[in-house]
Amino acid sequence: MASTCDNAMDNLAAVLHGKLDIRLENIDVPKLQENEVLLAMGSVGICGSDLKYWTEGKCGIFTLGQPLVMGHEGSGTVTKVGPGVKSLKIGDRVAVEPGVPCRKCGLCKTGRYNLCKDIFFCATPPDHGNLCMFYKHPADFCFRLPDHVSLDEGALLEPLAVAIYSCRRGNVALGTKVFVCGSGPVGILTMLVAKQMGASKVLITDIDDVRLEMARQMGADLTLKVTSRDAKDLANQVEAMMEGQPEVSIECSGADLSYATAIHATYPGGCVVTVARHRNSGDIPLNHAATKEVDIKGIFRYANCYPAALDFVTNSGVNLKPLISHHFPIQDTTTAFETARSGDAHALKVMIHCNK
Ligand SMILES: [Zn+2]
Ligand SMILES: [Zn+2]
Repeated sequence: MASTCDNAMDNLAAVLHGKLDIRLENIDVPKLQENEVLLAMGSVGICGSDLKYWTEGKCGIFTLGQPLVMGHEGSGTVTKVGPGVKSLKIGDRVAVEPGVPCRKCGLCKTGRYNLCKDIFFCATPPDHGNLCMFYKHPADFCFRLPDHVSLDEGALLEPLAVAIYSCRRGNVALGTKVFVCGSGPVGILTMLVAKQMGASKVLITDIDDVRLEMARQMGADLTLKVTSRDAKDLANQVEAMMEGQPEVSIECSGADLSYATAIHATYPGGCVVTVARHRNSGDIPLNHAATKEVDIKGIFRYANCYPAALDFVTNSGVNLKPLISHHFPIQDTTTAFETARSGDAHALKVMIHCNK
């Protein structure tokens, strides 16, 4: 892998070779360059995209080519600092923002660096991730955690950044009614962020009672179990429960039915934010969106959200730890992946620990 290396240390990594084939391998410990820090990785969460690469060898428009170190929801402890690093010191615990853009193109310069064509992003082929013992990263994409914030919470900043970006794209503000489809980790985090941003009411859906109960316990105002297969019918249920149509709908489930429900449910002139990727089955009522002037906004990861995510974890008083359902050491990565995709509703965020 890395050509310049320090072989004095072991560096166990979870490497995806192909479908359902993750191997633990010793990889080189990277040498640091200007502005980089070496991290002893702490916690790394498993996300839906990781499972897609593992089960299908691809995710969205990205396909696995070479063997790939997994992991993009990570936190760790600084063990070495490279030349020019002033913001961090050895021993600092940090959350890793996994996307590092070119910093030079027009999109980077205007702040939409998540859309940079030359972005490096952990565990998106061909860029290696940080599900390993030692990993290097630019210091300015590492966010120092206060003492009372755990490495697990640091790893949660990644899906939390997605939730923050989704609410920003939807212009969630004081008094907004927000409809969230799907009570997985991103859906629940989106609900929490919407409330923090001032949403007057948040309704969240799922097909599973266990997940809805978790959403309720974590603060959802309203929960709806999806039993109908009719998007219009579901939209009517949403409107009745919310006592009006939501101005913003945020689709986090990946189900085409939810996408269609969101379009039908949204108040004219409102907005549907598409967080999950879809199968493009053709059942999306785009004409309906057009005649209501409902804007459909895509999101791709996030930009400029880690500072707000860190602030949320540090100061909001909201406890995110119930979202973490399982813990595994890196040696048990395959079991961790199997647990995450088991379909067990109790498996929310599965966390892998890379160092003791
Ligand atoms: Zn993720
Ligand atoms: Zn760029």
